[in-house]
Amino acid sequence: MAIDTVEAWLRAELKTRVAALIAQWAPRMGVTVADWGIKRMKTRWGTCNVRARRIWLNPALIAHPPACLEYVVVHELTHLLERHHNARFHAWMDRFLPDWRTRQAQLNGQNQRGSFAEKRHSPRDGAHPHRSSSQPIVAKPANVIATEPPRCSSTETANQP
Ligand SMILES: [Zn+2]
Repeated sequence: MAIDTVEAWLRAELKTRVAALIAQWAPRMGVTVADWGIKRMKTRWGTCNVRARRIWLNPALIAHPPACLEYVVVHELTHLLERHHNARFHAWMDRFLPDWRTRQAQLNGQNQRGSFAEKRHSPRDGAHPHRSSSQPIVAKPANVIATEPPRCSSTETANQP
């Protein structure tokens, strides 16, 4: 089977899971999502354009445990309540997903340095403004689904021990 076919299948699977998660969480959190989709991103697991109420998720999430995917979905949905990664944001996360830190660590392959150091979801499309640090966009070979997943909200350097 061609890589593209595999990827298409994985994306479809991911979409099914994400649809279920949003259907479950959005009402519980009291938010509405206007649009969402799967989009390859180099440095982020997900983004949320608060104004457009639109969420993008990284296809590489398919290679991670469902608990991690749920964490990213809830994280992005939380941005509809609080745009910044501030205390209020984390308070929402604690309320919705008390073990989110564990899931985040798991997603990012461990030993996190502390806090949700995310600078990352910054966004071109006006999404929530975690500005700067945007790295140059370097195209990755297509079809790399999982080998080295981008790090959403955490840091680029998380690779280093
Ligand atoms: Zn975020």
